[in-house]
Amino acid sequence: MGKMLGCTNCQDLILLHLEPEYRKQPRTCNCGACHGFGLADQNHVLLFGPAIALGVFYPDKDEAFRPQSQIESGYHPVRLWRIPDGDRIIIASEKSESGWKVTTPCWRCQRTTGSPCEFSRISYPDG
Ligand SMILES: [Zn+2]
Ligand SMILES: [Zn+2]
Repeated sequence: MGKMLGCTNCQDLILLHLEPEYRKQPRTCNCGACHGFGLADQNHVLLFGPAIALGVFYPDKDEAFRPQSQIESGYHPVRLWRIPDGDRIIIASEKSESGWKVTTPCWRCQRTTGSPCEFSRISYPDG
């Protein structure tokens, strides 16, 4: 997936997985306020709680995960960047009695294709 969730409450970072994987092994950030998963197109993610999304530069990660002896300097940077809210990052930051509500929909699809995001009507009341 190459995307991580960052909790703005406890500052924890977790790697996101596609929804079927997440359902098998649900997990939250350390304080429990946030969770999230990747959607079926493998491009959009849905975050619950006070969360932000970070992108992981995979070539860096793959290199860093090699055996230590193959990493020339010993230290290997792994680049991460903040992805703007709504840039295929759908956020449901509020939970009410009726469940989670999308507070930041995706704006990227409309901007690049001219048609609404395929996940614009997404609803996950229970997360
Ligand atoms: Zn947290
Ligand atoms: Zn979209």
